[in-house]
Amino acid sequence: MRRFENSTALVTGAGQGIGLAIAERFAAEGAHVILADIQEALLLQAAERFKDLGYSVSYQALDVSRPEQVDRMVERIVQDGRSIDILANNAGVAWEESFLDIKDDNWRRMIDVNLNGMFYVAQRVARQMKEQGKGAIINMSSTNGLAGEAKYAHYNASKGGVILLTKTMAVELGASGIRVNAVCPGYIQTPMSEAIDDPEFVSRYIQNHIPLGRVGEPKDISGVFAFLASEDAAFINGECIVVDGGQLAF
Ligand code: NAD
Repeated sequence: MRRFENSTALVTGAGQGIGLAIAERFAAEGAHVILADIQEALLLQAAERFKDLGYSVSYQALDVSRPEQVDRMVERIVQDGRSIDILANNAGVAWEESFLDIKDDNWRRMIDVNLNGMFYVAQRVARQMKEQGKGAIINMSSTNGLAGEAKYAHYNASKGGVILLTKTMAVELGASGIRVNAVCPGYIQTPMSEAIDDPEFVSRYIQNHIPLGRVGEPKDISGVFAFLASEDAAFINGECIVVDGGQLAF
């Protein structure tokens, strides 16, 4: 399928993990993809690989928690003469910390990247989409935005915030032709999850929490982003799609 010919998709956190898979899916379906990430070396690597595959790609290094950097990114895209038809607002961080021990700086950093960063990018891009008269925004939340997992109070709060940010954006922006949805993945194997959990924890987690008997892969999520950006989802707005192998069905 090549559903996104003549479209541009901006993907944040595209250097690795789920964001990289999302970018690859949009590129494979014909979009020009703009890879954005704080890790420039990863962007370079990914952009080279995409070019070798014949994909149309460019990239921008930025920290999504810095509004002035977000402004600059959007200005550059517009100056390059591109529209932004699709935003995969995916960049995020996670680490474990018991509630009673969370340091104020760590709380602030988590919220700054996962919630404030999501807001800065979504708002600046939505302003541009409003001028274009259309667009699709998909914000990355998590099953942790719907249920409280121990040792992740700051992460859970940030992802819960993303869901109501999404719903409010959907209400305000629908009349401008902009659809806004969220995706709530469960456990997905990526550099983020590998950095936090050892293999023994993962097999116990699968056994106790995931009816499908496996963890998710980035491509389990990228297909859902592509669906939400596509015409097949033309009447889906303000929704939050759980993709967790049945974890929240318990
Ligand atoms: P990852 O760490 O493998 O990739 C995240 C990417 O975001 C990295 O390339 C990183 O450099 C980038 N990034 C981090 N901070 C940034 C910043 N300030 N500015 C710009 N880029 C930044 O993580 P992942 O597992 O692929 O997660 C991607 C998203 O999916 C995150 O929002 C995460 O919270 C969410 N998520 C992940 C899981 C999971 O199990 N892996 C589950 C639910 C939701």
